[in-house]
Amino acid sequence: MNIKRMFCHKCGNLVNQKEIEKRIRDFCQSCGTIYYDNPLPVVSAIVPNRKREILLVLREREPYSNQWALPSGFVELNESVEQAALRELKEETHIEGNIVKLLDTFSHYNRIYGDLIWVTFEIKHQSGKLRAGDDASETRFFPVSELPQLAFTANRRAVEKYLISKHDLWTMQDSFKRLEKGSRFTGKNLPSNTLFKIITRDAHIITENWLSEVLTHRSTKHYARQSHNSIYKRAIKVISQFADWINRPGGHAKIFGITIELWVKIVVTRVIYYRKSLAP
Ligand SMILES: [Zn+2]
Repeated sequence: MNIKRMFCHKCGNLVNQKEIEKRIRDFCQSCGTIYYDNPLPVVSAIVPNRKREILLVLREREPYSNQWALPSGFVELNESVEQAALRELKEETHIEGNIVKLLDTFSHYNRIYGDLIWVTFEIKHQSGKLRAGDDASETRFFPVSELPQLAFTANRRAVEKYLISKHDLWTMQDSFKRLEKGSRFTGKNLPSNTLFKIITRDAHIITENWLSEVLTHRSTKHYARQSHNSIYKRAIKVISQFADWINRPGGHAKIFGITIELWVKIVVTRVIYYRKSLAP
């Protein structure tokens, strides 16, 4: 959006345009004021529930009226992006939340608003009953597998990032759910299959994480006296073997007296922890 200023707000004279620092900028010849225009910051909130649904609002007003979007709005002066996201969420849905993490930042030119910097947070629903407010005619949770088309590119992109961030966790939860229901193991539903894939893919990350843990923890000081390279080699060998164990047919075999499935459960929690620590 390139609205030209007519008058200088410092001296009231007409504003011209001039190339300054390689860009055409508004410039007041009378008082020498250069006008620097910057993108506008916008925030959005992804608020999930325990059923793998996320909160959307139906926009009441133009632009994009009658389209679904994440609770979103412009950052005001004297507030942080985090405060803005929580405020917009409350204004549009009447719920209060806590910031979980930053999910996405996105520079985007919007034909109506111009250059925007879009910041999306994952927010945990803390309190308040869901009810549409301010600019929203309806608000409700949608299953992530049945989301309507969202009004903003930035929203679509942030949701995609959110889904990617949950992919491993949800796949593992699903395989455990099948286990808990007591269904018989088949080659397909064994959680170890999922875990095996993740361990194979992330063996070096898991090893590095483990290394930095044992090298800094006081109960495992003796590792610090050995060469980083040799510990790494041994650790990655163990982790690779572990992946082989859990992928062995008939996953009920025992390692050190406990079943492989229990091992899998223990390691899953660690892997999830490691992956969480990698998340932006
Ligand atoms: Zn002026």
